[in-house]
Amino acid sequence: MSFNIAIDGPAGAGKSTIARKLATDLSYIYVDTGAMYRAMAYYFIQSGIEAGDEQAVASACENVDVTIRYEGGEQQVLLNGENVSAFIRREEVGRMASETSVYPVVRTKLVQLQRQLAAKENVIMDGRDIGTVVLPDADVKIYLTASSAVRARRRFDELCEKGTECSLEEIEKDIIDRDYRDMHRDVSPLKQADDAVLLDSSDLDIDGVVSEMKKIIQGAAK
Ligand code: C5P
Repeated sequence: MSFNIAIDGPAGAGKSTIARKLATDLSYIYVDTGAMYRAMAYYFIQSGIEAGDEQAVASACENVDVTIRYEGGEQQVLLNGENVSAFIRREEVGRMASETSVYPVVRTKLVQLQRQLAAKENVIMDGRDIGTVVLPDADVKIYLTASSAVRARRRFDELCEKGTECSLEEIEKDIIDRDYRDMHRDVSPLKQADDAVLLDSSDLDIDGVVSEMKKIIQGAAK
């Protein structure tokens, strides 16, 4: 039986940074489910499909195959066999992912893949619906959040470091819009599972969050 850790929370809460670090320290497989929604979104953008056109999204889903593989411990996302990991991080792709992840046809496809992975391996999986829908029986569930101002500032600093020009105000607006869409959609909305532990990272640095999480995981494994 595999041991599964589910981490959910809003955009920019630090889920992927923390989950990746924890997975390395604990020798678990890190599964970034957002990257799967982004790969689908990338396909829709490349195909000129509008996010609001559910019919076009549904028929495109029949032609999309998303899989993942690991290279040097890093998750790579393959879209119809092509590694698209380098193309899915842009804000535009994140927005399209948020807009198209509301469709059941998109979710069903990816949830199946996520469950298969968790059944085979000890995973740390992050996303929006992992503790509530994908792995309701996960051994540990953590809901990681932070204020929208702190999340916007972190993303802003990250982009500035890469030399990307951006506005803090626009980033915060995008984060608030994304939170709203993710929390209010009909299918698998973002919410804290009843049995998840809430962790607010607003006043913690990365090492502080990792150490809090390790305490939660150790407590659950006893
Ligand atoms: O986490 P990330 O920003 O990469 O996710 C992109 C978008 O994919 C999210 O805003 C959300 O709408 C969607 N998503 C989801 N369910 C997941 C992971 C991501 O709906 N498990």
